[in-house]
Amino acid sequence: MIIDGTKVAQDIEGEIREAIGKLEGRPPCLAFVRVGEDPASIAYIKRKKRKCQEVGIRSIDHELPESTTQDTLMELIASLNGDETVDGILIQLPLPKQLDPQAVLTAIDPNKDVDGFHPVNMGKLLSGETSGFYSCTPFGIATLLERVGIETGGQHVVIVGRSNIVGKPLAALLVQKRQGANATVTIAHSGTPDLPSITKQADILVAAIGKANYIRGDMVKPGATVIDVGINRHDGKLVGDVYFDEVKEIAANLTPVPGGVGPMTIAMLLFNTLEAYKRLRS
Ligand code: NDP
Repeated sequence: MIIDGTKVAQDIEGEIREAIGKLEGRPPCLAFVRVGEDPASIAYIKRKKRKCQEVGIRSIDHELPESTTQDTLMELIASLNGDETVDGILIQLPLPKQLDPQAVLTAIDPNKDVDGFHPVNMGKLLSGETSGFYSCTPFGIATLLERVGIETGGQHVVIVGRSNIVGKPLAALLVQKRQGANATVTIAHSGTPDLPSITKQADILVAAIGKANYIRGDMVKPGATVIDVGINRHDGKLVGDVYFDEVKEIAANLTPVPGGVGPMTIAMLLFNTLEAYKRLRS
């Protein structure tokens, strides 16, 4: 099966649109903050804003120059934290070099941290508390598996990549007992010797590496589910971290790039924004 992330994301967006349609009072609002003119960041925000509009989330833009100082950005975040008409805050990464991303992300009110990168939300995820926000890509992957009926309980999940935005939070999410994920999780990274011997053990293999076509057919166990998180420009095309044409012959289930994890990431951003809106009112 080629796992259709676009379709599942559309289903979730439909549910969010319906829920927002029933709200009384103002709609949920997400504030986007972009520093500089990185073309990829401009494109990502445009896509996210279009989706906000489609489901009825109001979005506001803060576009700051490349030379923005830490103090200026911190002041903006403080004012968004205090603004009762703003439910979610998204700081588009990467930030220019003079800015400290960890300090910036930590300055966001955890209750408005719809990207789920704040240490409080990461900590809640790790400790199995459900009152925080899960970061959107891991949340999207877990939701995608659930919605297409791929069981994680008792399965060996191998995640290649240990970033704070994908690999580590995904491992924390899938290893949870309480929410029923209940997988056995291995995280591999650039320091892992003999990577194929690890990836071949995976019932569910997740590639979050950032290297085009890196996972080859002979690195995958026959019948495995393969989730490709990577987004790479290669020969003028968008490709994942998984060598699609080879791996589709070996795996039982595979996500395409584009159209797999990417749309799910945005759907979960919308979900978290609606959730933030509800929590700020409860
Ligand atoms: P990072 O660069 O932060 O992390 C990459 C990870 O891969 C690191 O842990 C690194 O190891 C590991 N790695 C690199 N080379 C190898 C190797 N040869 N063997 C084993 N492990 C290796 O990337 P991100 O997690 O931010 O993103 C990963 C990919 O996913 C990118 O292509 C990105 O564009 C994409 N992405 C897609 C999203 C979506 O919505 N679809 C959302 C977020 C990211 P080490 O820690 O040792 O350096």
